[in-house]
Amino acid sequence: MTTHSPKPDPSSAFDIDLHHKYLHNRRTKIVATIGPSCSSPAQLRALVSGGLDVARINFSHGTAEDHVKTIRLIRKIAGQLKKNVAILGDLCGPKIRVGEFANGSIVLKENTTVFITTKPVIGSESLIPSQYKNLVHEVVPGHSILLDDGNLELKVIRKNKDKVEAKVIHGGILKDHKGMNLPNTKLGVAALTAKDKDDVLYCIKAEVDYVALSFVRRAGDITNLKSWLARNGSEIPVIAKIEMPEALENIHAIMGLADGIMVARGDLGVELPAKKVPIIQNKLIQIANAMNKPVIVATQMLESMIEHSRPTRAEVTDVAGACLACADAVMLSGETAVGKYPLETFETMDSILRETEAYQFFSQGGGFGKNHRDCANGLLGAIGEATAQLSRDLMVHSIFVLTVSGYTARIVSSDRPAAPIMALTQSQTVARRMQLFWGVYPRLVKKAMTTHDYLIYGERIIKEHHLAKEGDFVIMISGLADIGAKATAIMVHKVG
Ligand code: PGA
Ligand code: MN
Repeated sequence: MTTHSPKPDPSSAFDIDLHHKYLHNRRTKIVATIGPSCSSPAQLRALVSGGLDVARINFSHGTAEDHVKTIRLIRKIAGQLKKNVAILGDLCGPKIRVGEFANGSIVLKENTTVFITTKPVIGSESLIPSQYKNLVHEVVPGHSILLDDGNLELKVIRKNKDKVEAKVIHGGILKDHKGMNLPNTKLGVAALTAKDKDDVLYCIKAEVDYVALSFVRRAGDITNLKSWLARNGSEIPVIAKIEMPEALENIHAIMGLADGIMVARGDLGVELPAKKVPIIQNKLIQIANAMNKPVIVATQMLESMIEHSRPTRAEVTDVAGACLACADAVMLSGETAVGKYPLETFETMDSILRETEAYQFFSQGGGFGKNHRDCANGLLGAIGEATAQLSRDLMVHSIFVLTVSGYTARIVSSDRPAAPIMALTQSQTVARRMQLFWGVYPRLVKKAMTTHDYLIYGERIIKEHHLAKEGDFVIMISGLADIGAKATAIMVHKVG
C-alpha cells in the first residue's frame, strides 16, 4: 500500500501491464452533485467515507433553505468522519427555459411553424412560452433556437412586437421547463442574475468553499460576482463555468480573475457543435494547468449510470481521458443527484481514476508528466518545478507543504509531482478548499511550526499513514516560523 517502487524499463514502452500496483492516494479529485438520490444521512456518510472531495450543491433546483440544511448535514457528517469535504455552491445563472404547456408537453413537427412568446401564458402545440424577456428583441431571423439540450431545433423566420415566429427544423416532444439555448444570439443578460445574488447570500451564510458562476462570457462577469461577495463581506473563491462560445474568446482574462474553471460540457456542447468539445476540453485543461488554476471536467461522465448499474465503455474511457489530460477534478451530476445508483457511480469513478493513475505513474517510471507553464511564476513557480523534478529523481514518497492560503500547495500541485502533497494549514476553510486540488491532501495543524516541529510532525504522519519507509525520501517545503516567512525552504529529508 505504500506509494511506489517503480522499475522503469525503456524496452517495455509497448507492453501493456494489466497487473500493476495501485497508488495509496487517488490524485484526481471527485466532485459529486448532491440531490434527492444521495442526500439521506446514510448515503452522504457513504459518499464522504468513500472519499468524496467536493459536494456540489446545484442552485438550479430546490430551495435555498433546503440547500443550507444539506450543507450543514454534510459538514456534520464530515466532522464525525474527520474528513475535509469542500462545498461548491453552483449558481443557476441566466439559464433560459420554456414555460408550461396545457398537458405538460407538446409535440413539435418538422417544417411546421411555431410562435415563441415572452408573455406569461400556458403554451400550446403552436405557442411556446419563455420567461426570457429580451428574447424577441435579441434574436435575429436566421438564428437557431435549441430546445431540451439541443434535441429539438427551431429557426427564426421573423418577429413582431411580442412574438417570434420560427420553423421547426428538428421536431420531437417538448416538455415543461426544458432548457432553451440561443447559440447565435448575443445575449444582453448578465451572468449574475437577481436570483443568483440572493443565492449567493445563502452560500455566504452556509460558508460554502467555492461558488460557481454559470454562463460566464467575459472577465467582467467574474468581477461582478466578486464585488457582490465583497459587498457582503465574503471572499469565497469563484469557479467560472465555461459553457458559452464567448467565454472561449475571453478565456485568458476570465482565467486570470477566476479561482478555477469548470468545463461545463452540457451547455457547451449545445452552444457549439458537440464535436468541438473534446479539443476545447483539452485546451482548457492546458490553460488552467499553465495558470495554476484548478479545472473540473463536468457533465455526462457516467451518464448511463443514472439508469444502469454499469457504465458504457465509452464513458469509462471519457473519465480516464480527463484524468490523462491532467484535469484536477471530474464531476458527477445527475448520476449522483437523481440517479438509481449514486454510490455505485461514485465507486466506479473512483476505481477508473485509480486504475488510470497507477498505470500513468508506473509506465512513466514514477511520475505524471510535466506542466508547461506559459508564464514565469517567480520564486514559488521555481519551487514547484524543482519539487516535481526532485520527486521523480529521488522517488520521493510524500511532499509536505506548510501553507497559509493554500497557494503554495496549489503551485506545487500544478507541476504534478510524483508524490502526494500533504498540505498543512491552520485554517479549516483553507483545508476544505484544497480538496479541489490535484494530489493535495489537507491536514489541519494547531500552530505555526519551527523546523524542528515540522520534522517531528512529518515523521509522525508518515508513520501513522504508512506514507514512507525508513530510508525513503520525503520533501518538506515551507516558510518556517523560525527562519521567517520570507525565506522558503525545500528540505529533502530521509526517513529514519
Ligand atoms: P449545469 O452546468 O449542469 O448547471 O448546466 C454544467 C454543464 O452545463 O455542463
Ligand atoms: Mn450548464
